[in-house]
Amino acid sequence: MQEFIGNCRGCGKAIYCENGFLNGTVQEDQTLECFECQEQRRESED
Ligand SMILES: [Zn+2]
Repeated sequence: MQEFIGNCRGCGKAIYCENGFLNGTVQEDQTLECFECQEQRRESED
């Protein structure tokens, strides 16, 4: 069971909810971000 949630705000990659597991993260402003972009952002922030 795979449910399309939306697109990553960084790279536009499709974010899915798979068996209750989201292959990305929901930001405080409700936008979506994939793990790759989240990690890149974390590296550049610190
Ligand atoms: Zn992304």
